[in-house]
Amino acid sequence: MDADFPEHTVQIISLLLILAAALMFAFSMNNMPSAETIASEGSSCLVIDPGHGGIDGGAIALNGMKESDMNLAIALKLREIAVFCGQSSVMTREDDSCRTDYASYSEHEDLVYRAQLINAVPNGILISIHQNNYPTSQPSGAQVLYARGEQSKTFGELTHRNILTYLQNENRRVAEPAPKNLYLTANVDCPAILVECGFVSNPFDLDQLMEDHYQTAFAAVLLASFLQFDTRENTSYS
Ligand SMILES: [Zn+2]
Repeated sequence: MDADFPEHTVQIISLLLILAAALMFAFSMNNMPSAETIASEGSSCLVIDPGHGGIDGGAIALNGMKESDMNLAIALKLREIAVFCGQSSVMTREDDSCRTDYASYSEHEDLVYRAQLINAVPNGILISIHQNNYPTSQPSGAQVLYARGEQSKTFGELTHRNILTYLQNENRRVAEPAPKNLYLTANVDCPAILVECGFVSNPFDLDQLMEDHYQTAFAAVLLASFLQFDTRENTSYS
């Protein structure tokens, strides 16, 4: 048996407890509605953006894997858990595709399309999923970048803290404002974060990111963070 299994089991049980607690809290704040009520009109919609796709593979990992495929794997797991929790969601892509054809591909055009799609979602809250890359193998660990505005900052800091607490105890990075030249976070109107799940240039990060159960745990932390943030916002504005 894998020596890490019990530790991961404990982590996943902890994550499920967070999810259960977040859902119970959300239910109690809304006079015990059903899961369908939570996903109904007027409630928040989780917008999941798996970075890159199609001709744009993003960073290439040490093992030759495309960042776009790793982003999509975590994004699809995040959607699965959202469905399980009765949370409505929208994805900017659901497969290895991009919005323009290969011959005329433009990264800028693809990002413009994604921003338009995201801005058209009523009550959207965006999680854009990416992987980090560096010329040397030393840097490691996830990092959350948040869009402008207090809501995005709150969401980013909360999510980063959860990732460190439940998945990466050794990580000393901090959540930071997204650089102004990151198109998506600079051009969406809703609360938005971009999550760099780890470094594909670091062997340890890459080993973890390739594991199915780690991807699931990461997705669970993202969904739990979304629920915590959404519940907090709804409570403070109601
Ligand atoms: Zn990327």
